[in-house]
Amino acid sequence: MTQIKTQNILIIRYGEIALKGMNKPYFEKTLLRRIRAAMAKVTRQGQHSEDGSAALPLSCHAYADGGLLIAEGPALEDTESEEKLIRQILRVFGVSTVSKAWRIRARELTKIRAAAADWMEQRLNESRPVTFKVFGKRADKTYPITSPELAADIGEAILEAFPDRVRVDVHDPEVSLYVHLRRKDVLIFDDSLKGFGGLPLGTNGKGLILLSGGIDSPVAAWLMAKRGMQIEAVHFHSYPYTSKRAEEKVLDLADILAAYCGKVKVHIVNLLPAQEALAAKCPENEMTILVRRFMVRIAEKIALRESCDFLITGENLGQVASQTAEGIAVTDRASTLPILRPLIAMDKVDIMALAQEIGTYETSILPYEDCCTVFLPKHPSTKPVLSHIEASEALLGGPEAIEALEDEVLASETLNTDEIES
Ligand code: ATP
Ligand code: MG
Repeated sequence: MTQIKTQNILIIRYGEIALKGMNKPYFEKTLLRRIRAAMAKVTRQGQHSEDGSAALPLSCHAYADGGLLIAEGPALEDTESEEKLIRQILRVFGVSTVSKAWRIRARELTKIRAAAADWMEQRLNESRPVTFKVFGKRADKTYPITSPELAADIGEAILEAFPDRVRVDVHDPEVSLYVHLRRKDVLIFDDSLKGFGGLPLGTNGKGLILLSGGIDSPVAAWLMAKRGMQIEAVHFHSYPYTSKRAEEKVLDLADILAAYCGKVKVHIVNLLPAQEALAAKCPENEMTILVRRFMVRIAEKIALRESCDFLITGENLGQVASQTAEGIAVTDRASTLPILRPLIAMDKVDIMALAQEIGTYETSILPYEDCCTVFLPKHPSTKPVLSHIEASEALLGGPEAIEALEDEVLASETLNTDEIES
């Protein structure tokens, strides 16, 4: 190792925000706020001192710098907390990639060469030569050599430093070494880790997800949050027909989502009075669609009260009897708020793969009953017609009777917590 002073930093890149024109500073600022909050989850925990007693604060801060975001601080000098920080940052919506990097606060070629060799030394293999390629980028056009010349120069320096241990491979290198020469410093880094992209949370309104314990609705919530939408949730149960454990499962799902979209407020509502009234007075084969319309109407009331502009569901065209084109159209008419269905055109296998990737799948498949399975019709109507469904709803006794039922259902409402972070 040479004595070139390097600093561990993270380079954080965003994709789409770059296209936002006039709004770019707003998006960038929001993204930085989200990144700082994500990093605080690690730095707040601190690091135990040698004797294991006190927790030392491990600081790390992020800022915008020439079209990139940079994170730096003592926390990055500690490998374990560096890994944790990277994991947290990769979960922030709006982040497209993260690279571990070295920064050198000197721009002389000799120093860049030496630092690049040090970087490469850490990637050598004991038993065989490692293939590599250098990518040069001269962001500061006043620097006397061009980007390709920079790459060639650094490549030669590495070959000279480790003659028998490295080989150049420009097509399929094992190690890609990027040298980014800027106005005041030089960044050295290798291939980046991929984030989810999307837009920073809080930049695109607020939606209320109808959250069941199934596979689909958590994924639907996640997808909307990825586009910057803040998420609140409503869950319907049919206690005592459904168990407390089923309810806890939904709260567990909300906690998993919280890792991406902050604490999710969950409104928990007992739908049983409505289900019993529908079962007593309406055609059995229409139960599924009638219950679904009831859910939507109650969700809409909660959404309006909580300043949500949208409802969100995990519905998916053709997946089950209630999700035929006709069923979805008739459900839609129960709400004046727009209903977003981000999974509508996805295949089930892709939804399941996404659920696995975001970590909700294992919880979703736990076998607890959903309220939809209570009073399930044997032969559900798959081609409901709005006028027929409305006629069935009229059997409940008119708008006032429906309103009274909705109020009765809403009276059971509880919240997962009273302390919600903004
Ligand atoms: P999921 O996997 O999300 O449960 P699903 O494939 O089981 O969906 P349905 O049971 O027909 O399909 O539900 C369709 C959508 O209706 C769900 O994605 C969800 O948004 C909403 N929903 C269903 N049951 C409930 C519930 N108990 N509480 C809140 N929303 C629900
Ligand atoms: Mg379900």
